[in-house]
Amino acid sequence: MPLVPMRALLDHAAENGYGVAAFNVNNMEQIQAIMAAAVKTESPVIIQASRGARSYSQDNYLRHLMLAAAELHPQIPLAMHLDHGNSPATCFSAIEQGFTSVMMDGSLQEDGKTPSSFEHNVKVTKEVVERAHAAGVTVEGEIGCLGGVEDGHGAGGDPMAHLTDPAQAEQFAAETGVDAVAVAIGTSHGAYKFKKKPTGEVLKMSIIAEIHRRLPETHLVMHGSSSVPKELIDIINAYGGKMPATFGVPVEEIQEGIRNGVRKINVDTDNRLAITGAIRKVFFEKPEEFDPRSYMKPAREAMQAVCEARMIAFGQAGFAPKVPKVSLEEMARRYHRLGR
Ligand SMILES: [Zn+2]
Repeated sequence: MPLVPMRALLDHAAENGYGVAAFNVNNMEQIQAIMAAAVKTESPVIIQASRGARSYSQDNYLRHLMLAAAELHPQIPLAMHLDHGNSPATCFSAIEQGFTSVMMDGSLQEDGKTPSSFEHNVKVTKEVVERAHAAGVTVEGEIGCLGGVEDGHGAGGDPMAHLTDPAQAEQFAAETGVDAVAVAIGTSHGAYKFKKKPTGEVLKMSIIAEIHRRLPETHLVMHGSSSVPKELIDIINAYGGKMPATFGVPVEEIQEGIRNGVRKINVDTDNRLAITGAIRKVFFEKPEEFDPRSYMKPAREAMQAVCEARMIAFGQAGFAPKVPKVSLEEMARRYHRLGR
């Protein structure tokens, strides 16, 4: 199966009440780990690359790796998504490179750091929606700003400073026609999200419920949603690492989000932790090893285990054979018919 528009996956997830993990990648082993997990759990899946990943691995390598994944596993509905595009130009170049979905993060200015105005956000997002939908490509926007910084992108600082306003989210969706919207509910990018286990005071699930009530047709996205499991930090530290104690978003909280309309959940940090722990373990236990495969293989397996666990927890497992096959061309015709 060719790469599919992300909208097709999210629509099916909404109809069936589940969430879809969107895993970040930079290299072949990460893509292989995700696909192995998707095959084993029969999951539809979103693979995403940030601007940092695109410059690290180069679009041509990424595109061909993704096409290889689709060719090897035609039974898995697979969308290729740009994470945090900072400008329409970034999104357009991704579409030219074969991405079937893009995020236009107009919540920040083009520098990827400074919170922008609502008007700026609507303007750039709308521009991307017009061009993307004509090609059948899905668009995710962001309203409100997440805390933290990932791959050089993010407002940083206090995640409670720019929470999403549900009324503004409603206006944003109406004015732009976006397919999905990332909401800021107190989560942060990166490993260091919370100093203690988050509760209702720091994680505003009520905002998600209210946005979903106002926008039942727009898919909600949770960023900064790695769970940062203690077991993975412990492995890193047991083999020479020095990571301080930290808490992510508990899987149960994400499941609560899914019950309230969240359809895409971004996971990156957990996979980074799994890979690093596995590599450290080999280096520590077998210091004489120098074949990269001796540590990349266990790293890939460790990431696969995290992906499988998330796919099962988010409810996407088992749905791969049931997602309707929608091509970019068909999706473009649908947008045209609906006039958006
Ligand atoms: Zn993000």
